[in-house]
Amino acid sequence: MPSTQIWARDPEVDAEVAVVGLGSMGSMALWQCASRGARVLGLERFAIGHDRGAGHGDSKIFRTAYAEGSEYVPLLQAALGLWHLLEQETGKPLLTMTGGLMIGDPAGSFLGGVVASARMHGLLHEVLTPDQAMQRFPQLRLTAREHAIWEPRAGVLRPELAIAAAIDRARQLGAETLEQVEVQRLTDCGSHVKIESSRGTFRVARAVVTVGAWTPRLVQLPGMDRCWVERQVQAWFRLEEPDLYRPDRFGIFARYIDGVNWYGFPTLDGATIKVAFHHGGSRTDPDQVDRTVHATDLDPLRERVCRGLRGVSEEVVRATTCLYINTPDDHFVIGPATASGRVVVAGPMAGHGFKFAAIVGSVLADLALEGKTVHPIEPFDPARPSFAGET
Ligand SMILES: Cc1cc2nc3c(=O)[nH]c(=O)nc-3n(C[C@H](O)[C@H](O)[C@H](O)COP(=O)(O)OP(=O)(O)OC[C@H]3O[C@@H](n4cnc5c(N)ncnc54)[C@H](O)[C@@H]3O)c2cc1C
Repeated sequence: MPSTQIWARDPEVDAEVAVVGLGSMGSMALWQCASRGARVLGLERFAIGHDRGAGHGDSKIFRTAYAEGSEYVPLLQAALGLWHLLEQETGKPLLTMTGGLMIGDPAGSFLGGVVASARMHGLLHEVLTPDQAMQRFPQLRLTAREHAIWEPRAGVLRPELAIAAAIDRARQLGAETLEQVEVQRLTDCGSHVKIESSRGTFRVARAVVTVGAWTPRLVQLPGMDRCWVERQVQAWFRLEEPDLYRPDRFGIFARYIDGVNWYGFPTLDGATIKVAFHHGGSRTDPDQVDRTVHATDLDPLRERVCRGLRGVSEEVVRATTCLYINTPDDHFVIGPATASGRVVVAGPMAGHGFKFAAIVGSVLADLALEGKTVHPIEPFDPARPSFAGET
């Protein structure tokens, strides 16, 4: 139920911190701000738990050895602890550790990046030839060029459950939330932040902006105009051999070969597995997304599934769209959004952010409440040249 009474202990401001956008990152920021005793107000354009952004789809991959860059690993290690903390505080099972397989050309940048980050941070991993991988995981059909790295510290996050758990916990701790409120503009007034919305104006001490695919509309920073939204499709294929894909027998996988990146999950319902491409979707306006899933979306995925997995049928039981927002350098944007630092932003999350959401929430609470964080977020600074466009 939407909460409507705004906490007004201090008549000067409606809240110490406003969190704008209560999806993946915002729900965690709300929880973390509330955990620290802050008077926090969350504003969400739609209903919490909706499926128009990026925080839905039953499952999201968690992995620690990170092809995208070793600089992400400390955040992933910290995220793991916070996911477990949220589980403990709410009694909800949010992360199932299944282990994971990264599959690709052993000489390519994907497996190279996984191994480099694992070695740099001393992460457990095993390198498997295609034969070794197929012997151990009979679910796989690999070509001679597809080697694998098995990482035990990988698993499946439950996004809808996690967002709901964080919001519920934050409310228990005193957070206020308003749904169906579209924030139209944020102004850093020096002494406070003015938030203009479809339901009036709020005056808050600080603001956290976590609006995902809509970030460039609210945050005017150099580089935001080069971010773009990508329509993605995720599909659930019916299993012929459901037992093979039980989470205790099969983990998450990410496969990158010949420029095509696809990934999948063990079965969560005992009947289907979810599979999707990473990238390759069309550019879209986040408010004008084609939500119909077409044969042209599914056929290439079906072809990968039939060629690359055993015991999975061609039948797609369900399919949905989801939004990536990509950055010019494919890395996150996390940091101050105004000169005073009263407004902080997490986003775009470049299509791979969910696994970090718990730690991003904590970082945002640090930045909003203390103006600094101990976590290594320098690589995601909005002012970095590869994002802001300076050379
Ligand atoms: C198909 C798909 C699969 C993915 N799989 C994985 C995965 O396996 N592992 C992984 O780590 N990541 C994955 N990702 C990426 C990850 O889901 C995203 O990076 C992450 O969810 C982004 O979180 P967010 O909080 O930025 O956006 P969202 O979760 O979309 O939240 C943004 C929120 O802001 C609200 N909002 C927008 N504008 C306003 C406004 N003006 N006023 C108020 N509220 C507003 C929106 O309604 C929304 O609720 C996947 C993404 C997709 C699309």
